[in-house]
Amino acid sequence: AQIYGMELVESPEETYENIGGLEPQIEEIREAVELPLTKPQLFEKIGISPPKGVLLYGPPGTGKTLLARAVAHQTNAHFLRVVGSELVQKYIGEGARLVRELFDLAKQKAPSIIFIDEIDAIGAHRNDSTTSGDREVQRTLMQLLAEMDGFDNRGDVKIVAATNRIDILDRALLRPGRFDRIIRVPLPDAGARLEILKIHTAKMSLAGSVDLPAVAELAENTTGAELQAICREAGMMAIRRDAEAVEREDFLAAIKKVKREVAAPDSRMY
Ligand code: ATP
Repeated sequence: AQIYGMELVESPEETYENIGGLEPQIEEIREAVELPLTKPQLFEKIGISPPKGVLLYGPPGTGKTLLARAVAHQTNAHFLRVVGSELVQKYIGEGARLVRELFDLAKQKAPSIIFIDEIDAIGAHRNDSTTSGDREVQRTLMQLLAEMDGFDNRGDVKIVAATNRIDILDRALLRPGRFDRIIRVPLPDAGARLEILKIHTAKMSLAGSVDLPAVAELAENTTGAELQAICREAGMMAIRRDAEAVEREDFLAAIKKVKREVAAPDSRMY
């Protein structure tokens, strides 16, 4: 289904197995999003209303989208993804209408999960806004709040939003009844980095020299997305050497390269 030519509805393939680390985050999202969709009677029996959705926050590339896609997969829900900045920039003057259509489409396709990436682009604090751009953002946010208030907690549409700027979010979004679950998605520690490396090397031919726990230790301060890039880059090094398998040296070079690119994203060395 399409809104303004955006291909919106998907049935994700990712499962919780594809996520390295983040066990507590998976538990939380299962309880707040999966359980209301799969066992609404539990909430009814106890007499509380289930959460409408959750807000995930943390650095880019740490697996927020992956978490949302996995919960959609697990619940057999349709996955509708929009990006906050695109809602207000792509179709000027149409942000509020897009939000309305998004929720209509989600209800039509239920069970569904609406994933709003970069929610800070429409959900930042309201300060006195004079430019029309700000007014556009505000109208879009007002529509989002209205849609969230307007739908039934017990329904089979849930919202997952993601941001790496929780500090600038409008408090209205964080009020109970909207995103009443706020889940931090941190950088992976060494243990989680190892799990992520295992996932992304599962189909790679690794030589005996490769010690993944050591790679995980060396790849300090990297995100899941960067670890994925390290695996791909190590594979590229092996291809360039015309080798049968990826060696320890390939990983060491890949870590250097990815870390340097992260440190200097503008470098045009390659
Ligand atoms: P952004 O804030 O930039 O949207 P994000 O937190 O949503 O980032 P993802 O899009 O989920 O990050 O991650 C990008 C890719 O990095 C994923 O598709 C996945 O391949 C890999 N990745 C990130 N985190 C993990 C993880 N915890 N386990 C396995 N792979 C991961």
